[in-house]
Amino acid sequence: MVNGVVLEEAIKNYIQHRAAASKTEVYGWLIGFDNPKGDVFITAPLDCTRYDRQSVSDAVPNIDELHIVSAMMIQGMGIVGIYHSHPREVFHSSTDDYTVQTLAKMYPNIVSIVTNGDETRCYRLLDGKIGEVSPTQETLPPTNYLNFQLPIKSQVHIGSKTRHDQIDSLVSTQLQTALQDSLEKCHFKLDGKRLKDKQRLSKLPSGSAVLLQPSHWQMPSKDTLTLQGRPILTSVETTLKARVIVREGERLRDLRNAIENELADDLVQKIASGKYFHKEKRYTPAQTIFIKYLQAHLKLYIPFGKPDPDQYNYCKELVNSARLLLKLGKQAEALILLLGLSKYFGGVGDKELQSEAKAISES
Ligand SMILES: [Zn+2]
Repeated sequence: MVNGVVLEEAIKNYIQHRAAASKTEVYGWLIGFDNPKGDVFITAPLDCTRYDRQSVSDAVPNIDELHIVSAMMIQGMGIVGIYHSHPREVFHSSTDDYTVQTLAKMYPNIVSIVTNGDETRCYRLLDGKIGEVSPTQETLPPTNYLNFQLPIKSQVHIGSKTRHDQIDSLVSTQLQTALQDSLEKCHFKLDGKRLKDKQRLSKLPSGSAVLLQPSHWQMPSKDTLTLQGRPILTSVETTLKARVIVREGERLRDLRNAIENELADDLVQKIASGKYFHKEKRYTPAQTIFIKYLQAHLKLYIPFGKPDPDQYNYCKELVNSARLLLKLGKQAEALILLLGLSKYFGGVGDKELQSEAKAISES
């Protein structure tokens, strides 16, 4: 299979059901990964939540969705395609061609699926032209992934009158130093044995313990002179998290790069939704949680205050996705998704949606 597409029956059914149930044209993103040959594996469909316009025979998703969805992806997975519905005839219109050509500038292997609820066709760019391809409906093997946790601690001088955005950047700089320092000292251990960078990963079952050594306390930063108001020494600690897809034959060096990127990204996201409490002299970074949705993994943040509205909207939409999965007989997958969603809604303090997710999973 070269330039092929793997689309599981369940995902095709999901897209068809969604199209058939809607009075207007629907749009969505296809999450997945590819291999060096250019074959695309679709792991989950994500429904578009924001449209620039939407009618019976027309839908234009808000382009910001691309960034929102990409920010929720873990290393090794991303948006590999789009899907949308047509009221009657299933074909790739000139507008659809244009959309795919535009997206292909960012991701050349992009796949485009069109459905009317009964019939589904799949297209992609072949030698510069849009052509139809027949997807293989084989079941995807479970994605092999590893979880990493790295606790880091540091001390930061914060001025009593320092602005909130300045506090964030002070904390971020200090913690990034702590992360770099700690990564330098890190080595990877699998089943008690130290792994070498040149090593290739052959069989690495999900859940294998690859250990990272945590960092030590950092000296407080010295640039207190630029602070506004009396300097207050605050200790900040958090646990950075990363979930990384592992492919057979991958070099440990590449895996290490992927993990380092993910940990650095996690730090930036945690601080972006972090909060400083002047009275308690305490800085609370956001918490990271992962949600498994079919064979895709979503990365979400639980801040102290209000959740990110875009991530929150996506999670609300995913409650409907879970309902649809139940309808399609994918009980186990729906339960795993609902469990993750219930954890997220509980974390952001939305008791109503938390109990709704629980109720659906128990029904
Ligand atoms: Zn179309």
